[in-house]
Amino acid sequence: MKKVALSRLLNRTGLRSILHRTSRWSGVLALNYHRVGDARGSSLDRGLWSAGAEDFSQQLRFCRQQMEIIGPADLPRVLATRRGRYAMVTFDDAYRDNYETAFPILKHEGVAATFFVTSGFIDAPKLSWWDDIAWMVRTSRLRGMELPAWFDSPIVFDEPDREAALRVLLRRYKSMPSNDAPAYLAAIASASGTGRCPPEVGSSLWMTWDMLREMKDAGMTIGGHTVSHPVLSGMTAEKQEYEIMECGRRLASELGEPMRYFSYPVGNTTAFDETTRACLRKAGVSYAFSYYGGYRRFDDWDDYDVRRVAIETELDADWFRCIVTLPQLFG
Ligand SMILES: [Zn+2]
Repeated sequence: MKKVALSRLLNRTGLRSILHRTSRWSGVLALNYHRVGDARGSSLDRGLWSAGAEDFSQQLRFCRQQMEIIGPADLPRVLATRRGRYAMVTFDDAYRDNYETAFPILKHEGVAATFFVTSGFIDAPKLSWWDDIAWMVRTSRLRGMELPAWFDSPIVFDEPDREAALRVLLRRYKSMPSNDAPAYLAAIASASGTGRCPPEVGSSLWMTWDMLREMKDAGMTIGGHTVSHPVLSGMTAEKQEYEIMECGRRLASELGEPMRYFSYPVGNTTAFDETTRACLRKAGVSYAFSYYGGYRRFDDWDDYDVRRVAIETELDADWFRCIVTLPQLFG
């Protein structure tokens, strides 16, 4: 929270603008969003909401004032110069609110964003594992649960939102081999007393191919994010290849263009490995995006690790402005 206080101080004193002008950073600052709108009262994972609609508009306007907002197709041009500061606006997972709420705002502001799509969610709409876990925790009638195979001590549901318990459960999922995930979800379903979330909750959660085609025709870029959103690293080469190639095949057949851009599910430094990179090369992907913060300098460029900053609802306007103008400190 020191960064919140610092961002306020830098903005109020005018120091932020001065530091922005005098600092030497150059490269690409990619911002990543998941959902746009109002998370209050949702039984799903509220951590996925990146901004309210009005905040999202303001963020786009601020970004545009500061630097050119580019799409992934602009990267070869920008990389040829290796100079200047550029922003990218990206979305992961393909939630329906991206089309209903974010897309009209992007058109109004004249910003072309990139949407990374989990093709299996579009083809057969169902809840993601993180929303499933959130639903089980939030709708449980218990005060907590024991998962002895996974945690040494009981998980206590912190009221009223049970947010801390949820964060612990999600973090554990992200750190386990993907083979263990089905047993983990089944254990939560049993220990919470809720069973798994009913499928109808997920039926209208994602965009449709028609929506994605409309967005592409309006200048948005659509990229891949696997078939089923697993953590790719640690999977066999065959499984990784299926998740990447099949996602690419579905994008190409629905959108009429090959998958050139990709973002790693979860996206931290351990979420992808050399096998993943080899699969991306084989699939013809030009650029792949990670998700562990920071920006990508031109003198440290990596086509398959374009870094992205998480945009989250708890960022206030001061903090956002510091991320955009001083990413070497705040990104
Ligand atoms: Zn994702």
